[in-house]
Amino acid sequence: MSAIDHLIHANESYVATFPGPRPIRPKLRTTIITCMDSRLDLFGALGLDIGDAHLIRNAGGIPTDDVLRSLAISQRTLGTREVVIIHHTECGMDGFDDDAFRAQLTAESGDEPPWRVPGFTDLREDTRRSVETVRSCAWIPHRDDVRGFVFDVATARIEEVS
Ligand SMILES: [Zn+2]
Repeated sequence: MSAIDHLIHANESYVATFPGPRPIRPKLRTTIITCMDSRLDLFGALGLDIGDAHLIRNAGGIPTDDVLRSLAISQRTLGTREVVIIHHTECGMDGFDDDAFRAQLTAESGDEPPWRVPGFTDLREDTRRSVETVRSCAWIPHRDDVRGFVFDVATARIEEVS
């Protein structure tokens, strides 16, 4: 059984207990920007239910242009107001070398990627920087409640970064 077959099989069980449709607008009016890391179960860690919040994920939980695009849609058309940014310990983007990665892709494909892959060296400082990026984005109408946290993958505890 492939991993995808496993997912399809698991869905059959899930459908059997699925509580039914929810409104499209997130109930908590909140968007969470976080990393794609497979160890972050934010529904479990934050007590979220289906329909509660938008989750926007990428490598590192970095507010790139594409993340800001999704956040603008989240707030302007789907009514969210607060933003939570969660970075985490043992992140694959910690110490990531953007220049080397892009040079490798360019060498192998002959095409230079139009995007950057920002990494970081200081987890808390990078979380602060991400909060600042959202707070200074003029396309995001609600920027008063933007808060940053670090998630510890060893304990599942979140700690606010002020
Ligand atoms: Zn990560």
